[in-house]
Amino acid sequence: MPLTENDLRAWVRAFAERVSEQRQYLTKLDSAIGDGDHGQNLNRGLAHAVEQISGSEGDANEDASAVFRTVAMALISKTGGASGPLYGTFFMDAGKAAKGYEELDVDAVAAMFRAGLEGVQRRGKAEPNDKTMVDALLPAVKTLEAAAEAGTPLAEAVTQAADAAQAGMEATTPLEARKGRASYLGERSKGHQDPGATSTYYLVAAASEAWKDVA
Ligand code: ADP
Ligand code: MG
Repeated sequence: MPLTENDLRAWVRAFAERVSEQRQYLTKLDSAIGDGDHGQNLNRGLAHAVEQISGSEGDANEDASAVFRTVAMALISKTGGASGPLYGTFFMDAGKAAKGYEELDVDAVAAMFRAGLEGVQRRGKAEPNDKTMVDALLPAVKTLEAAAEAGTPLAEAVTQAADAAQAGMEATTPLEARKGRASYLGERSKGHQDPGATSTYYLVAAASEAWKDVA
């Protein structure tokens, strides 16, 4: 069964819940190699996004791109930091990609994540191994694309993508940051897990949690 717009809302809510639960941890990670605001920033932005998408359930005019545009605008206006506009772009571009699909199946989800990743890279110019969100997002995208190619059911594909994002997040620890605030530390950024890659793992894990019963 393909996803509905309410499944997309459930994803955003699950992401917001995870970030809220883990905001102290995200802040701790960002204190080590940044300015310690990542948990609070994202928690504030996502709380606003959840507020903005609540109440439109059942509104036939709210297709996937409209839901994600609302999320994107909320994140851009309330998150702040480097990550606010980057997550905003992720959702904006993922929503645009959804427009090309009649059904939100595994192919559409892979295309949405690919478009979101491309948006993040277009805006932030980060390459793989720069120790950013991209290091968790890219493996998730590749995994989704391989799963779509193999005809893997959606819930299973997204669970695999979350595992790939987790591995990508963990692999940021030894890297030297080449983008964002952490890059000011040079060599001293080594040995710390990237906060943005960590929240991006939550983004993908939230999809697997929210969509676990989607066939
Ligand atoms: P700020 O660094 O402005 O305080 P946040 O603390 O909210 O912003 O977010 C920091 C995270 O943003 C980093 O851990 C990193 O993953 C991500 N980030 C920073 N710059 C970039 C970039 N150019 N491309 C992708 N991700 C980035
Ligand atoms: Mg910060």
